[in-house]
Amino acid sequence: MKPLIETTKQVHHNLIYKKGLVLAGPCSAESEEQLLRTAIELSHTKKVDILRAGIWKPRTNPGSFEGNGTKALPWLLKAKKITGLQTAVEVATAKHVEDALSFEVDVLWIGARTTVNPFSVQQIADALKGTNQTVLIKNPVNPDIKLWIGAIERLQKSGITDIGLIHRGFTSYGNTEYRNVPMWQIPIEMKRLFPDMPLICDPSHICGNRTGLLSVSQKSVDLDYDGLMIESHYDPDVALTDMQQQLTPEDLKQLLEAIIRKNSSSNEAAFVKQLDNLREQINHLDEELISLISNRMNVAKQIGEIKKNSQVTVLQSSRYNEVLERSIKKGEQVGLSNEFIKNYLEAIHIESIRIQNSLV
Ligand code: PEP
Ligand code: MN
Repeated sequence: MKPLIETTKQVHHNLIYKKGLVLAGPCSAESEEQLLRTAIELSHTKKVDILRAGIWKPRTNPGSFEGNGTKALPWLLKAKKITGLQTAVEVATAKHVEDALSFEVDVLWIGARTTVNPFSVQQIADALKGTNQTVLIKNPVNPDIKLWIGAIERLQKSGITDIGLIHRGFTSYGNTEYRNVPMWQIPIEMKRLFPDMPLICDPSHICGNRTGLLSVSQKSVDLDYDGLMIESHYDPDVALTDMQQQLTPEDLKQLLEAIIRKNSSSNEAAFVKQLDNLREQINHLDEELISLISNRMNVAKQIGEIKKNSQVTVLQSSRYNEVLERSIKKGEQVGLSNEFIKNYLEAIHIESIRIQNSLV
């Protein structure tokens, strides 16, 4: 019989396709009491769909708490039975997959330190063959979009269809604002390449503290992400891992209530996305410019050293005029006004002289 309404749109019954999906729970399942207490408080907020908990913790330094392992899986199952929340754990090996599935874990996620390794991802993909498991893939720790895509492809080749992405930011050296810099253009590109795949933001691991959580969460909502994964512990101050970034269930509730969800038309959402993408490009170019200028200053400094040793005066106006002329010519070729080039070079020149003078 012909259905009453014909539709080509795929209807998903899997929870990960819910817009505004929330996964929350402790960084680590520390004890049965800690997990149950957190899970119950989270379910009382009525804002959480899936309970997350780390069972096997990939730690940067050995000797840190590495999770309770398989013995924590029954706690998670108990939490699921008591609260009705679905459960999610991180898996890094075939054995983890096997154990998690035997304790009815609903969603598996591949951690950022595992997505970087094709051998590990393949092992997980092989272990998942023949299941219709839901899997979320965190971005790799380094900003290599191909590794992220490769992980998706490995799972798809194993017949896995319910795949979602988690954006948790990227390692960078010397950034103090974020634990892992977001580099929004990468997940935006993933959304463009995989428009039907849920994209979830993990502000906890991007921020590494509680203060930035709301603005990063809000930004992900503005960029039309599909959900959030946020770490929550009934008492973050005693957490064994990631204590600075975890929220109490009550604080999580308040954060989720503070997020503004604009009823934007899809046109408006596309416009916001485009704008953010371009602003991100500007940020990157500015960073590159500053580092190029710093390279230039280092060369000026070397010139300063030579001048100092040979007793030459710092300012040699014929040289400055030569540099100015060259730059004006180059500027004309690429559409930059003479006025701009003069102002720009003057600022650079003043800074070079300041640096050279500081050597004298
Ligand atoms: C985690 O979710 O607790 C975790 C270890 O995250 P990531 O893989 O993003 O570092
Ligand atoms: Mn964590």
